Amino acid sequence: MTATSRDRQHQKSKALKPGSRRPAKELCSECGLCDTYYIHYVKEACAFLNQQIAELEAKIHDRHRHLDDENELYFGVHQLMIAARKKQPIQGAQWTGIVSAIACEMLDRGLVEGVVCVQNTAEDRFQPMPVIARTPEEVLAAKVNKPTLSPNLSVLEQVEQSGMKRLLVIGVGCQIQALREVEEKLGLEKLYVLGTPCVDNVSREGLQKFLDTTSKSPDTVVHYEFMQDFRVHFKHEDGSIEKVPFFGLNTKKLKDVFAPSCLSCFDYVNSLADLVVGYMGAPFGWQWIVVRNDTGAEMLELVGDQLDTQPVSSQGNRKQAVQQSIPAYEQGVTLPMWAAQLMGVVIERIGPKGLEYGRFSIDSHFTRNYLYVKRNYPEKLEAHVPEFAKKIVSQYKLPDV
Ligand code: FAD
Ligand code: SF4
Repeated sequence: MTATSRDRQHQKSKALKPGSRRPAKELCSECGLCDTYYIHYVKEACAFLNQQIAELEAKIHDRHRHLDDENELYFGVHQLMIAARKKQPIQGAQWTGIVSAIACEMLDRGLVEGVVCVQNTAEDRFQPMPVIARTPEEVLAAKVNKPTLSPNLSVLEQVEQSGMKRLLVIGVGCQIQALREVEEKLGLEKLYVLGTPCVDNVSREGLQKFLDTTSKSPDTVVHYEFMQDFRVHFKHEDGSIEKVPFFGLNTKKLKDVFAPSCLSCFDYVNSLADLVVGYMGAPFGWQWIVVRNDTGAEMLELVGDQLDTQPVSSQGNRKQAVQQSIPAYEQGVTLPMWAAQLMGVVIERIGPKGLEYGRFSIDSHFTRNYLYVKRNYPEKLEAHVPEFAKKIVSQYKLPDV
């Protein structure tokens, strides 16, 4: 595209209100690409119009994931997986703040000139506001999850306009797939991608319904996480933690809360990032780190002296629990709270831990999402579900739809 035609395209896309053009329609995850002139590439780039994880993995990581290796099948191409936590956690971060620490370090050392990350608006702590941070202070203002769909890529035009040559992007899987398709058009010398896993995201309205349905005090929730102890932990303004067992969630009411994009997503583990920082494959209280390629190794190295680490481990067997959860979810079974609490205690004691918990969570979400796509978008099923996800889902007996 020439500069003039791109400018025209730019003016055209600016003339439209954000949200007015979304080729993926109801499957759109609001990744932000379509708020920019890069909407021109949407047919190839959009994770929901053109699933191309395997092709992009080969391009970005220089090889395909090994489908016969259980760890690669589940967690994607990687050189290294470890559990880590910051020796001095960043107060107010989602976990111990490894993501923010890496981004600050990259700015401090001049490795990048800017960091795409998500702050929140002044009025609403859960309303995402993507920015290009240029100082560690601006990165730290983006710490903690905004558990809502966030148009991170909406700031991409500013990258090219600013003349920036070295950039770090922090984002979730659907954002990163679209980014990888357009990265060569950004005029960068070097792009670093720091991903987090992501699942069951919601619109701002959906989030309110989730909080209202699940927490005793929705207005004071500061952040929450679906934890490895099979409970949702809500942190409140006064520092108190409210724990609600997964098995006590009102699945009937919550079924339509999650965004259709997230109910049809199979990139839980952010396959195309250089480095992934989550928690689900690590012991409780630790973060889970997946180094996918040399760029990811370089990024992790920057904070090596700030971290305690330990090898990843795995314990238990998830298969029966996953198989049983499929009809339970389908029928919208909700246990009375006392039974849910009891089940939570038992499962925490004997249930899957470490990488096996990660596989439990992936299996549960992939089987649910496979059924969702099969039921609602049967014509998309074959192309939209990646081969690794088909292999994972094939381990389970699914109901006819
Ligand atoms: P912090 O230092 O607090 O930094 C958090 C970073 O996340 C910030 O840089 C910010 O820019 C970015 N961010 C915040 N909200 C969004 C958003 N909506 N979209 C894109 N980027 C955002 N990990 C798992 O292991 N399993 C999960 O199921 C899982 N689900 C997640 C769902 C969502 C919506 C998000 C955003 C993250 C999820 N994670 C999950 C990742 C995990 O919760 C932590 O974000 C991660 O471990 C980093 O923690 P930290 O303390 O290092 O991050
Ligand atoms: Fe556009 Fe992103 Fe929505 Fe796809 S998910 S339609 S690329 S904004």
